[in-house]
Amino acid sequence: MKKLIFAILILLLLIGLSFYSRINANNLPALKEASYYQKLDSKTVQCQLCPRRCVITDTKTGFCGVRENRDGVLYTLVYGKPCSVHIDPIEKKPLFHVLPKSFSFSIATVGCNLRCKFCQNWEISQARPGEVRAYNLTPRQIVEEAKKSGSRSIAYTYTEPTIFYEYMLDIAKLTKEEGLLNVMHSAGHINEEPLRELCKYLDAANIDLKGFSQKYYGELTLGNLDSVLQTLKILKQEGVWIEITNLILPGLNDDPQMIKEMCVWIKDNLGDEVPLHFSRFWPMYKLTNLSPTPVETIQKAKQIAMDVGLKYVYIGNVPGDPAETTYCPKCKKPIIIRKGYSIEEINIKDGQCIFCYQKIPGIWK
Ligand code: SF4
Repeated sequence: MKKLIFAILILLLLIGLSFYSRINANNLPALKEASYYQKLDSKTVQCQLCPRRCVITDTKTGFCGVRENRDGVLYTLVYGKPCSVHIDPIEKKPLFHVLPKSFSFSIATVGCNLRCKFCQNWEISQARPGEVRAYNLTPRQIVEEAKKSGSRSIAYTYTEPTIFYEYMLDIAKLTKEEGLLNVMHSAGHINEEPLRELCKYLDAANIDLKGFSQKYYGELTLGNLDSVLQTLKILKQEGVWIEITNLILPGLNDDPQMIKEMCVWIKDNLGDEVPLHFSRFWPMYKLTNLSPTPVETIQKAKQIAMDVGLKYVYIGNVPGDPAETTYCPKCKKPIIIRKGYSIEEINIKDGQCIFCYQKIPGIWK
């Protein structure tokens, strides 16, 4: 009898352990060899994915925390492990000239190659694999779920898509086959070779141009302005639809001269039809000591951009502002009327303003 009870107890323990391990399997980092790295001497590798080019010794991870050297082989720890999966209006990316009023199946993993003091998603961007609950979803499953949801695109967003590059690329290849769009919201810190490979599958990108001085980038983000500018130029060369977001922080990157120089650079290098989104800062993460950006500051920035000659300038995080709407640059009539993320009216047909037939740039079908 004692033996029987003992056996039952062991059996229950094994069942419990199996259940526990299945639940926690979601928190275990997957292992897939990373692309874009070089083997150096004595089990040391150098990652070539982003401009940091981390030299990583055995058992250590790079700056982003999601690429690990194991015995001289670099692995991505987040392949198939999205921590955020949501169905968002594409306007939330923000992408205002891409399939308006459609949904975008949006994913992110933990990790980031920047350290922005104002990050809105720091709980996941600054987390490490295992610290945040993650799903197990293969690229095929992501695409199937996106189709089931009625989304017309898959968005790589919330954290920094560069650092889950292998996962994003495999999903993007399948997405193309299924006729959905691939869109990305990124801070643009990625090296040329992986970016050009990604561009074969990427339809649109919103790139954060966080400020227009290296001093600002260095102090507030630990990033590099030149890397972002190079990314923007490559996206343009490769024919990817670009929109730009500039988050304005009071007293830190709101200098009118700096904003003007940024707008001139955009016009000269990317053209006057690139939509520019000025976004209002709300106290966040390590900058809760700051006040929200005054609305007048954002409106002044918009006027500077319009004076430079940019045709599509928007204001974000100011609900109800008329600058959420797209106006035809020729007849000045509203052609996409927005209230927050909802679309009230679309007056574009076949890529043209319905009032004056002006061609409006973007991806409309
Ligand atoms: S992707 Fe990560 S590991 Fe690779 S260079 Fe950039 S920060 Fe370093």
